[in-house]
Amino acid sequence: MDFKQYITIVEDYPKEGIRFKDITTLMQDGPAYKAAIQELGKYAADLDADVIVGPEARGFVVGCPLAVEMEKGFVPVRKAGKLPREVLSVDYGLEYGKDSLTIHKDSITKGQKVLITDDLLATGGTIEATIKMVEELGGVVVGIAFLIELSYLNGRDRLANYNTFSLMTY
Ligand code: IMP
Repeated sequence: MDFKQYITIVEDYPKEGIRFKDITTLMQDGPAYKAAIQELGKYAADLDADVIVGPEARGFVVGCPLAVEMEKGFVPVRKAGKLPREVLSVDYGLEYGKDSLTIHKDSITKGQKVLITDDLLATGGTIEATIKMVEELGGVVVGIAFLIELSYLNGRDRLANYNTFSLMTY
């Protein structure tokens, strides 16, 4: 399937000069959305992950259906102030801004094999922060799966030591 036909390129969003890759048009199409998640499932099949971790909000869009398909749990990574229990927190830089991410401290146990998911790899800051939190909790990152990779932002360089997969590359 040519998945790129379901992605809408939005010029100058959220800032001038950025060509935003909008995945909502993929999500709106049932068979295409399912097929995309199944492709990530094929990648994940050999990784033997115990749990899936994804950053809000679009990491949920990818990670939750994949977790259900694989019959694994899903652990949310969220912006500061959103998770109700004790959290581990880490600061990170975005393609367009700065923020901090949090994860529940008891969500990952030592030695657990973790598959990280997000919609899109840009500079890699979001995933780098997510990896840091998973590893600080004792998790082992066995794979990282994206729908889209923006190769011109070289995010993959920051993930050189990890097994990484992206369904579409721009
Ligand atoms: P990074 O931390 O620079 O890799 O940015 C990745 C995060 O920014 C992902 O969680 C995306 O949801 C979001 N993002 C950055 N650029 C785009 C885009 O063009 N389309 C959709 N999301 C984007």
